[in-house]
Amino acid sequence: MIVTTYTCDLCSHKQGTPLDMIEVGVTVRALDRSGTGVTQERQIWCRPCCIKRGLVFKTDLDDAVRDDPAPTIEDLVREIVHEETDL
Ligand SMILES: [Zn+2]
Repeated sequence: MIVTTYTCDLCSHKQGTPLDMIEVGVTVRALDRSGTGVTQERQIWCRPCCIKRGLVFKTDLDDAVRDDPAPTIEDLVREIVHEETDL
């Protein structure tokens, strides 16, 4: 089985889906194009980190989702395994 984990490069938040994970990039290039190189830097940030830095606007839905997140499939499997091993 292959499991993909998305990790925020700023706060190390991990999740199993790309939902609300945002690719943030910076490109640095001389305006007169005299330089030979173009520097590109890309990272993956979670939505709260993007909101904290003003890249994404916070909505009422952000508070609702963060207060009561839906369980992931991994959470459900862990809960089932935990229940089965405790009996
Ligand atoms: Zn983050």
